[in-house]
Amino acid sequence: MQIPVLQSSASSIFSPNTTDNPLVDNYGRPITYLRLAVTDRCNLRCAYCMPENMRFLPTRELLTDEEMIRLVEISAALGIRKVRITGGEPFVRQGIMDLLWRMKETRGIEEVHITTNGVLTEKYVPELQRMGIASVNLSMDTFDAERFFDLTRRNEFASVYATFEALLASEIPLSVNAVVMEGKNSQDIIAMCEKTRTKHFTMRFIEEMPFNGGTHELPTLLWNHAKILAALENAFPNLERIGRSNHATAELYRVPGYAGQIGIIAGFSRTFCGACNRIRITAKGTLKTCLYDNGVLDLKTLLRSGASNEEVSDALVDAVQHRFRDGKEAEQHTQHTANHFDSMSSIGG
Ligand code: SAM
Ligand code: SF4
Repeated sequence: MQIPVLQSSASSIFSPNTTDNPLVDNYGRPITYLRLAVTDRCNLRCAYCMPENMRFLPTRELLTDEEMIRLVEISAALGIRKVRITGGEPFVRQGIMDLLWRMKETRGIEEVHITTNGVLTEKYVPELQRMGIASVNLSMDTFDAERFFDLTRRNEFASVYATFEALLASEIPLSVNAVVMEGKNSQDIIAMCEKTRTKHFTMRFIEEMPFNGGTHELPTLLWNHAKILAALENAFPNLERIGRSNHATAELYRVPGYAGQIGIIAGFSRTFCGACNRIRITAKGTLKTCLYDNGVLDLKTLLRSGASNEEVSDALVDAVQHRFRDGKEAEQHTQHTANHFDSMSSIGG
């Protein structure tokens, strides 16, 4: 069977360790975390993510439920233990709750997490809790309704805020994600942190990355992790660094006495690649072994060409054993292609 490899990636420089966990990359990093974009469609138009006239994939180009479950089962057999369901907006996909239940019940999968914009999510919160969803990341770039509209180009602040409150009232661990943009929400950073005074969640600030579907030029990164941290330290002189848990992208902090935590994700600066344990499957079924690569394996074509589970599994192992060292190296190999400006909605964040 001809394996549909998309982008030539790094050559393997270490012998792969296939004894305990077959998904160990060529730099010795075990791969245990899969991010799966279940759709590229979305009911918001966040300025940093996609243009107003975004063209979405036809449904036949998306993986079916059966294809996704099969990929998760194969991945679980290879050592994947954590799955994050993302998109596009996961809750615009028909049958998403059934799909989540099936992911949760997949042998080997220990944690299912969700990233959502919260527009449609509130009513599902009790069922997500019953299901045992491990955590929810809620994207909410500001708690100011007008600026929310400016940033997302949709009048959905009230429904997103209702989801925020429902999640806070639930037992599901909650992080709120905000992409920091100069003048658009940078003025809200401290007010957002203040919410952690009494509310038990992690407020995370993300550097803007260039995956905006061509909405605007590569961002000149005014708000990098150092500037975000400086703003926090200025407002909270007693800010304490908690650190970064294994494989996590967020550097965590807290203000003594506050109920919640604060995180900074240096997605543009890429300070965390050395411990990266994640792979991604995009909405159209492409494997990415780095956010900044261009897609290294066309899994959808492989599945639809009648490949056996063993062939799919071998192709995954091979792709992981030819991984780029880090996001900078991956970017060097992709910068001349138009896809570099793919929207984050097809990649899944
Ligand atoms: N629609 C869902 C949401 O917004 O949470 C899930 C998909 S969204 C693409 C996943 C994450 O990517 C969100 O937290 C969003 O803020 C982040 N994101 C999107 N575009 C980004 C960009 N250009 N730079 C940094 N983060 C981005
Ligand atoms: Fe939609 Fe999420 Fe992209 Fe915003 S960040 S446009 S909510 S996919």
